[in-house]
Amino acid sequence: MNSALRHEYLAALGVETWVMRGKSMPASPPREAMALREVAALRETAAARESGVDWPELRARVAACTRCTLCSTRTHTVFGVGSQQAEWLVVGEAPGADEDRQGEPFVGRAGQLLNSMLRAIGLAREQVYIANVLKCRPPGNRDPTAIEASECLPYLEQQIALLKPKIMLAVGRIAAQNLLHTDVTLGRLRQQVHRFGVSQVPLVATYHPAYLLRTPTDKRKAWEDLKFARDVCARV
Ligand code: SF4
Repeated sequence: MNSALRHEYLAALGVETWVMRGKSMPASPPREAMALREVAALRETAAARESGVDWPELRARVAACTRCTLCSTRTHTVFGVGSQQAEWLVVGEAPGADEDRQGEPFVGRAGQLLNSMLRAIGLAREQVYIANVLKCRPPGNRDPTAIEASECLPYLEQQIALLKPKIMLAVGRIAAQNLLHTDVTLGRLRQQVHRFGVSQVPLVATYHPAYLLRTPTDKRKAWEDLKFARDVCARV
């Protein structure tokens, strides 16, 4: 990408200049609470549920899913969008109101900012795959419960098995914590290479675009995270 175009995308991101950072650090510690261990056990049990399923069957299963109570309040399930040959998998928390209406992740203002963030590192939205931890919208955009995440994560895990991404970008605290089974803060999860699941896909965490719209002063940190993730991907 030429520098003029990069500056244009960075301007859309709200970043004027940047500084390279980033060294790999050890993965975060596991949760210790008993209740969370029980949830982790539930996840293990559920993990094999969608194993071996192809894309059309997986999409159909999600569209018909009634595994948690969110099925009764959703307008549409939000399966995911993008290239099935993508090297990058972007994972958010859950659909919001716009996503629930349209059945597509990261639309509206947050989606536009995510598109700008991706373009800033030379990626078109169509080149990546975008999904969420939850396929249905929690009412009022509340945080997903541990049970909802446990019931829904096997769908994402099978998407990952089919996609075989080179890197995962977890956007937002909720996505990062659910994917890594931790309650460590996003501030401590950033700028590290984590590993996801049995496939050990490299995972980098950063801020959610909706948060960045509310807190533009952190856009610079998000830009550092994107460059860090790009460097990690280049080394895979
Ligand atoms: S959130 Fe996931 S587990 Fe719950 S009903 Fe929707 S697709 Fe099923």
